Amino acid sequence: MTVPAAPPRRVVVQAPGKINLSLAVGAVDGRGYHELATVFHAVDLLETVTARAVDGAELTLAVDSRVPGDVPLDGTNLALRAAALLRERTGTRRGAALHVDKRVPVAGGMGGGSADAAAALVALDALWGLALGPAALTELAGELGADVPFALLGGTALGRGTGGDLTPLRTGGDPWWVLAVPGGHLSTPAVYRRADEIAEATGRALPARPEVDARQLDALAAGDTELLAATLSNDLQEAALGLHPGLAPVLDALRDAGAPGALVSGSGPTLAALARDERHARAIAERVHGAGVVEQCLLARGGAPGARVLAQD
Ligand code: ATP
Repeated sequence: MTVPAAPPRRVVVQAPGKINLSLAVGAVDGRGYHELATVFHAVDLLETVTARAVDGAELTLAVDSRVPGDVPLDGTNLALRAAALLRERTGTRRGAALHVDKRVPVAGGMGGGSADAAAALVALDALWGLALGPAALTELAGELGADVPFALLGGTALGRGTGGDLTPLRTGGDPWWVLAVPGGHLSTPAVYRRADEIAEATGRALPARPEVDARQLDALAAGDTELLAATLSNDLQEAALGLHPGLAPVLDALRDAGAPGALVSGSGPTLAALARDERHARAIAERVHGAGVVEQCLLARGGAPGARVLAQD
């Protein structure tokens, strides 16, 4: 006779932040969202979400942050929104105490909130014994935000639609990155609005079906750092640089420090610079830090796995 395993009292899940190696922005779809073609790349700046069982139906959240920036603790926090969505869809009335250990810069265009949402979905699925499986979790992730399905998947992937239609990409090595946090914030909707204004003012029609540069996929498959550097591309970069005067000096400093390629990550303001190896990444970070144009410089390795259970007991 097999004895059913006791449900866990604690589940610990890690999920990665991301950068966009390409972000091609197309026309607005019927629901008012921009059609995107993007290459998501997970980095090993990891959010850790711990879900603990509680006796009642209460959902609580505590956050320890190692990065600057304000994180909401109310129902708008993406980890709590993930919990509420799971309860609504499955009908469970169970509660949980959630704890988030943040390492991804807040509101930096690196999808930290999305990583928290993905990690909370996986943690609570296990804590509450829901056994929803990857397809159902991915569907819920897509409802929580455009970047949440990728935080579940990890690695490197081509994203289409608003970002949730994902195709994993083969890579020949995991590159090193310097992530420069310039301070200040950029609102994602404001950056998209500015990009629309720039396109209109310059008479540039946004494509119905945006495409990423096929050479970038070749560079990733071959592990070719120089070609990858040459194909880094972000259609939101001009808008982000225009809205945040602190970004251009950081981009210059990263290039002057010898980074073969650098770009604004997503809607910014974090900037990502490619390095040839770990030592090179350290040297770039030191020089840029010394130039006094950044709040923080972080090192990260690309190709981190998606949300996964680290421990349950
Ligand atoms: P996006 O591009 O989706 O706006 P981002 O990657 O730039 O996001 P996040 O750190 O995910 O940055 O946070 C964006 C905003 O979302 C924050 O300013 C904050 O108000 C809100 N937010 C909600 N939940 C979280 C969370 N768990 N962690 C961080 N921010 C959160």
